[in-house]
Amino acid sequence: MKVAIITGISGQDGAYLAQLLLSKGYKVVGVVRDLNRKLHGLEYLGIRDQVTLELCDLWEQASILRLLVKYKPDEIYNLAAQSSVGLSFEYPIETIKFNFVSVLNFLEAIRLHDKNTRFYQASSSEMYGMVSDLPVRINSPMHPLSPYAISKASAFWMIVNYREAYKLHCCTGVLFNHESYLRSSNFFVKKVIVEAIKMTSNPDMVLRVGNLHVRRDFGYSPKYVEAMWLMQQNPVAKDYVICSGTSILLEDIVHHIFHRLGLDTGKIVVDKNLSRLTDIEDIYGDNREAVSDLGWDYNLDFYQVLDMLIDEEIRNTPDAQHLAARLSEGPAGHFFH
Ligand code: NAP
Repeated sequence: MKVAIITGISGQDGAYLAQLLLSKGYKVVGVVRDLNRKLHGLEYLGIRDQVTLELCDLWEQASILRLLVKYKPDEIYNLAAQSSVGLSFEYPIETIKFNFVSVLNFLEAIRLHDKNTRFYQASSSEMYGMVSDLPVRINSPMHPLSPYAISKASAFWMIVNYREAYKLHCCTGVLFNHESYLRSSNFFVKKVIVEAIKMTSNPDMVLRVGNLHVRRDFGYSPKYVEAMWLMQQNPVAKDYVICSGTSILLEDIVHHIFHRLGLDTGKIVVDKNLSRLTDIEDIYGDNREAVSDLGWDYNLDFYQVLDMLIDEEIRNTPDAQHLAARLSEGPAGHFFH
């Protein structure tokens, strides 16, 4: 039985990745920073009891070394991070320190303990930031625009360095935005869906948003975690861009959700205070290398994903049962294309 360690198991991707690895017969060890924390994602997927939880301080190299000695993992998936761009402006030092030092601690521990342990690092398209040539490919120049992006870029180059210097099987997946029902509610798509559902029974509510005139490449988390696993099976450790390959205007996302829920788009209020300090107009990636090398298949249109997310949110919101009739009507169809 293969053993996999997942950090960040309490997050969105951690839960879906655990589900995928369990379905493939792995023993899954999930690293948490507090054993009393509620593991909503694992509980929602009904796999809480199938995962071994381990307390480990990722700031401490000795803690990580003990973890490797105890479980002798075949594969490590490092998903733990301060993952919000917005929060990284409020907590730049903590973000950069944690998102970088935790990765370096793992690499050092693997080098010292067992160089055959495979390591996957969750990187982010945010590293590319101010791009001039689209689509983004793995070798596109990086110009990160936030402390979060800088932390991920630093970790990216550390991985490259350990791969080249010590021949470790370590790689990064450069993931573009990906969503699911388990996404935290401080992220754009989840926030809009949750707020919009509340608005259907609160006529006085409005939706406050930042700049909607930017385009981003969005995908579906349960499919993106498949790419993580495929990268670990690759005989050669290599970094890949994981994305849908097209970008979508944030305004179209909000309008699609409002249309699906029968809401008036006049209730969307633009609040400049909610815009990012530095932003780019458009970014999308090229996933063809992941498709051809790894056999990763992704063909979901994001409007299709949005419909799935809205339906799942309604099913799980006790106060939203008045919307259930809409679900039985089937997909609303695409508003904007
Ligand atoms: P998420 O839901 O925000 O989960 C983040 C995880 O990191 C949580 O399990 C959290 O644990 C853990 N964590 C945060 N700070 C920690 C600390 N100081 N010590 C230990 N654990 C800590 O993120 P996600 O959406 O699943 O994303 C997974 C990874 O992919 C992240 O590294 C993220 O930066 C990266 N990524 C995500 C996207 C995306 O669109 N989702 C895109 C590109 C890259 P607690 O529950 O204890 O807070």
